[in-house]
Amino acid sequence: MVGKGLDPIFAQGSAPGQSAIAVVRLSGKLPDSLYDELKIYEDERSFFLREINFGDFADSCLVLNFPAPGSYTGESMLEIHSHGNQLIVAEIFRWLEERGLREAEPGEFSKRAFLNNKISLVQAEGVSLGIEAETKDQLVALDSFRSGVLSKKIENVMSQLNGVLVELEAQLDFSDEEDVIDTKSGAIQDSLSCVLVELADLLKNYGPFEKNSLKKRVVLVGRPNVGKSSIFNSLLNEDVAIVSQEAGTTRDIVRKVLPLSGFEVEVEDTAGLRPETNDAIEKSGMVLTVKAAESADFLIYVTDDPEEIVPKEFRDRSFLVFNKCDLNPAPSSFSGLSVSAKTGEGIGVLLEKLKSLATSSSGQKLISERTHKKLEKAMKILSKEAGGADFFEMTAQNIRDANQELNEIYGELDNEKILDQIFNNFCIGK
Ligand code: GDP
Repeated sequence: MVGKGLDPIFAQGSAPGQSAIAVVRLSGKLPDSLYDELKIYEDERSFFLREINFGDFADSCLVLNFPAPGSYTGESMLEIHSHGNQLIVAEIFRWLEERGLREAEPGEFSKRAFLNNKISLVQAEGVSLGIEAETKDQLVALDSFRSGVLSKKIENVMSQLNGVLVELEAQLDFSDEEDVIDTKSGAIQDSLSCVLVELADLLKNYGPFEKNSLKKRVVLVGRPNVGKSSIFNSLLNEDVAIVSQEAGTTRDIVRKVLPLSGFEVEVEDTAGLRPETNDAIEKSGMVLTVKAAESADFLIYVTDDPEEIVPKEFRDRSFLVFNKCDLNPAPSSFSGLSVSAKTGEGIGVLLEKLKSLATSSSGQKLISERTHKKLEKAMKILSKEAGGADFFEMTAQNIRDANQELNEIYGELDNEKILDQIFNNFCIGK
């Protein structure tokens, strides 16, 4: 339904707090009296400078008018740009409530945009994930989901499936003639296999977006007492991990996010590895170290012995660091980086190394978790065994079921509850 819209709602569209400007957006069937009071021509897409009087004080606001249906939601919309103080915003809220508007639920603007066919469900989710992204890497990885490139790929899969379905339906009439089943089922299976390859490719290249997607994890490993905790503290410029002369003090993994000019790396300090200990807690700590090392993007292998070589299991992703160079300089033959956590020598170079790691893109692409689950489900349905006399019927049904899953990616679902679940995850004002 495109038109003047549902009950009128409002929400702050800008981040709360002090700022130059705060934006309150309105949508729905806005009362005529509101336009009269603001001296705004309802049908004119324009902006107006207006002094809004809240009773005790006034604020000079820019009011933008987006007549229906040419607005984000497809309904009549107004945006009030006031000075960026939450006290003023609170006054605007009260002023609007007095005029019969109510505060919007999270995602209610986007839900209305979707219901009014202004955006697809995938576009709505793209908008939301674009706001949620915390690193540039995530924004880059979300690009094809947000721009519609992925949608085209899924549409292509669906049209191929429909092609197979047409072929299948043509065969259904002859499906009890065994020789027809044999000759045609092979060709249909081949076409289906091609679609499955494409779907498998999509699932391989597109991961589900989560809060920490693509955040790089770097783990400090090495024997006890080589200075891992000291390097950890130096990198963070903060005393987070306990530094001690006593070997085996770090047992739990200590994690901290290191901000690197707009990018973030999670650095982890771990229990030192030494085979000779009998301490059960230290041994448990070492198990955690190995686990953390296995799943890390990158290891900093710390040593204070220039002759030490990185154990085989860590070699492929490790950067060798010789610590305590203030005591003994590393020999010229040493191939790693020489640092001193005590004096800070070499720590800047190590930070640069981490920065280049943080900014290197993994090439992984991201989509909404919901879309990922639907693709997985479609893949599972299409991979079901079908054979024998019912081959055509079973395969046709599988294709219909898989297409239903893929259609739901775009919002072809009438279930109000599911829609609410999707939009309730959006932020307020979106
Ligand atoms: P970890 O067990 O590998 O985490 O090592 P720690 O960071 O706890 O350090 C073990 C000992 O080495 C402590 O007494 C630290 O003060 C000392 N240490 C660490 N880094 C340096 C360094 O760069 N130079 C010197 N001289 N001592 C260091």
